[in-house]
Amino acid sequence: MKKKAHNKCEDCGKCCLFSQMILSEKEYKKILKKYPDLRSLNAFWRDEEGFLRMRTINRECVFFDKTTKMCSIYELRPMGCRIYPIHYNFEEQRCKFGELCPKPKEFYPDEKSFKRACNKLKKYLKKEILIENITM
Ligand code: SF4
Ligand code: SF4
Repeated sequence: MKKKAHNKCEDCGKCCLFSQMILSEKEYKKILKKYPDLRSLNAFWRDEEGFLRMRTINRECVFFDKTTKMCSIYELRPMGCRIYPIHYNFEEQRCKFGELCPKPKEFYPDEKSFKRACNKLKKYLKKEILIENITM
């Protein structure tokens, strides 16, 4: 019998708190295509700089399922959620592990995997979110 893959995020969901994750227009359209009702539910908002973000209610991302402690749009979650616990720190101009995650090394155990994910994230921020101020 095939062994079930271990879900490293099981019973956590800490990174879905306070997140207000940024998403690209492409990701936004894909989510709305699958869940058209979300348009009227205010699930997204634009910040003062014009970036699209996931909405949080009572500090939780609207897509966080409290019962399962999982993302309800897992297949369509934006890049920032996929790459976390790595995030890009704009002040320091580099990728870092997010402080909320209790076990970042389980996702990125070595320098090589960290670098690969960091490059992917930086490329995404530059090309899809159109942020110029990214050190490649
Ligand atoms: S979109 Fe999903 S993974 Fe991303 S913060 Fe929201 S609930 Fe968490
Ligand atoms: S990435 Fe880290 S903080 Fe987020 S749900 Fe998984 S274990 Fe928890």
